[in-house]
Amino acid sequence: QITEPTSQQIIDENRDYTLFSWSVQNAANPVHLKRAEGVYFWDGDDNRWLDFSSQLINMNVGHQHPKVLNAIKKQVDELCFAGPSFATEPRGTLGKKLAEVTGLAKSFFTLGGSEANENAIKIARLYTGRNKIITRYRSYHGATMGSMTASGDPRRWPVEPGMPGVVRAFDPYCYRCPFGQKVESCHRECVSHIEEIIRMEGPDNIAAILVEGITGSNGLLIPPDDYYPKLRALCDRYGILLIDDEVMSGFGRTGMWLATQHYGIKPDIVTAAKGLTSGYMPLGTVIVSAPIAEYFETHMLYGGLTYSGHPVSCAAANANLAVYEEESIFENVETQGAYLTHRLNSIEQRFACVGDVRSIGLFSVIELVKDKVTREPLAPFNGTSPEMGKLAAYLKSQHLYAFTRFNMLWVCPPLIITQEQLGNGLDIIEEGLRIVDATLAS
Ligand code: PMP
Repeated sequence: QITEPTSQQIIDENRDYTLFSWSVQNAANPVHLKRAEGVYFWDGDDNRWLDFSSQLINMNVGHQHPKVLNAIKKQVDELCFAGPSFATEPRGTLGKKLAEVTGLAKSFFTLGGSEANENAIKIARLYTGRNKIITRYRSYHGATMGSMTASGDPRRWPVEPGMPGVVRAFDPYCYRCPFGQKVESCHRECVSHIEEIIRMEGPDNIAAILVEGITGSNGLLIPPDDYYPKLRALCDRYGILLIDDEVMSGFGRTGMWLATQHYGIKPDIVTAAKGLTSGYMPLGTVIVSAPIAEYFETHMLYGGLTYSGHPVSCAAANANLAVYEEESIFENVETQGAYLTHRLNSIEQRFACVGDVRSIGLFSVIELVKDKVTREPLAPFNGTSPEMGKLAAYLKSQHLYAFTRFNMLWVCPPLIITQEQLGNGLDIIEEGLRIVDATLAS
């Protein structure tokens, strides 16, 4: 007789045979995912968790959406196989849709975001004949060798020297401006110093500037309105490509297809993943402009991936993007995003430990400090603190699945969330912040 494994046995088997990412194996503490629906998932003990961390996989249209599931099932029955050099209906439909929503021309499909950035860098180098890539210190671009080197944050340290040719610049981090400026009176030194870097590195050596549309996993850095127009002009002045990594900020999270569309500019290359399929299937893409696409009409694109543009992944993406339009997802992001901003502003006013809140659409972060005046972070960069540990443990005890890292707490729910569900999660967060305030005051 076959008996079902217990939840603990499932967790133990996962721990025994999986190398967990971003974790010391001893500290890995996975939640047993049993089922999911909408904005919730359930663990092995039947606890219902509210998902406030959907930016990790971008479960944008919610868990187990019937239209996406049906499209996947239909495609599985019809055709599961396709090497990269075949033509399939789902890939054609998706490529056309991506060109339409980004204003770019052609897609090179990958399996995820890291591979997309890896290939975007390669395409930029092949197209320009130049080798250097400028990236920013607080951007994250993936965990493969090249994409990890291209990242600026400390996650790159262990793989260094990694991929040659990466030069880093500072970020538009207005709460902690690296140039000591105030946004109302600054001269956008966060852009002008990049021009100095270009001069010092030699403009003819620089293939691209690679940025996250809106920096996600290093704390929601939302640039001032004229940042991207100025960066675009800088790229044009020196014949440098602008690569926009929209893996986290794209496909609805900010209420638009691309975060940079809020700034009225068009990148030369866009990379995307997570939100493309709402996390239902592995898929990434490098979407390139018409001139770049044209170049590869007569020049070899050195590279290919066995599962590039797999029909089941493309079918999931087509259904997911159709749901965005059929169910007015962007409108919900705008409505709930306004409520979220309102609640976050009130949180900033009322809690001593909250130094700054930043949000755009349903993409937001709460930055915690020891002191509002000195802005001393509640945990060091690349570190943690007892207070942050206490906050994370409290949210977990209430079955709110929210991401914390360093001195920050992210609020990034599925894009279908209702005001009541959002309010319930924020109430739990307020209680957690009350505990932090009380700890700091004691
Ligand atoms: N770029 C950004 C901005 C990301 O947030 C991530 C994933 N967190 C990646 C790239 C890497 O994507 P993947 O995990 O699909 O390789």
